Amino acid sequence: MNHQLIQELEDTIQNIPDFPKPGIQFKDITPIFLKPDLYKDVIKDLAEFSRGKIDAVCGIESRGYLFGIAIAVALDVPFVLIRKKGKLPPPFVGQKYDLEYGSAEIEMRTGQIKSGQRILIHDDLLATGGTTEAAALLVQKQGARISQFSFLIALEELGGKERLKQFEAEVHQILT
Ligand code: AMP
Repeated sequence: MNHQLIQELEDTIQNIPDFPKPGIQFKDITPIFLKPDLYKDVIKDLAEFSRGKIDAVCGIESRGYLFGIAIAVALDVPFVLIRKKGKLPPPFVGQKYDLEYGSAEIEMRTGQIKSGQRILIHDDLLATGGTTEAAALLVQKQGARISQFSFLIALEELGGKERLKQFEAEVHQILT
């Protein structure tokens, strides 16, 4: 565990109460990008977790891109975008998932990940795990293997980690 990195992230990430809805404490990670050295340390931590263990990174829209691409470049592996419904041109595959009210869908271009590849799924934050679970199911639909999940932050009390156990993959977060 990198205590200095944890401390610096805790001092930098802002907690915004009651956004976007009453009762939600929003974690604003954007101040990290005002500190290039901190950003580099975050990427170093996340890349070291995955070094030698993955063949591609799949990042979840949109904040999963901000770190996911840099992880992929650091490890010299491809980066694949998982997008919200309606943004990608065909051909693509989709996966529906439930939200607190209603449902949502995510999509990925067909053919960008290959059968048998070891995949890291990355997002900035794990809450209930619904989004990440849908991303993992989408990857599995294409015959690839979920090897790892990584996040900057995991809000453990919301049960996301439990939900990801079905994939039998390693999970890493810098902040809990
Ligand atoms: P979930 O599907 O519940 O795990 O939610 C994860 C997604 O919602 C991630 O893409 C996060 O960026 C976003 N999210 C959920 N809760 C928060 C929060 N408290 N602060 C910032 N982003 C959040």
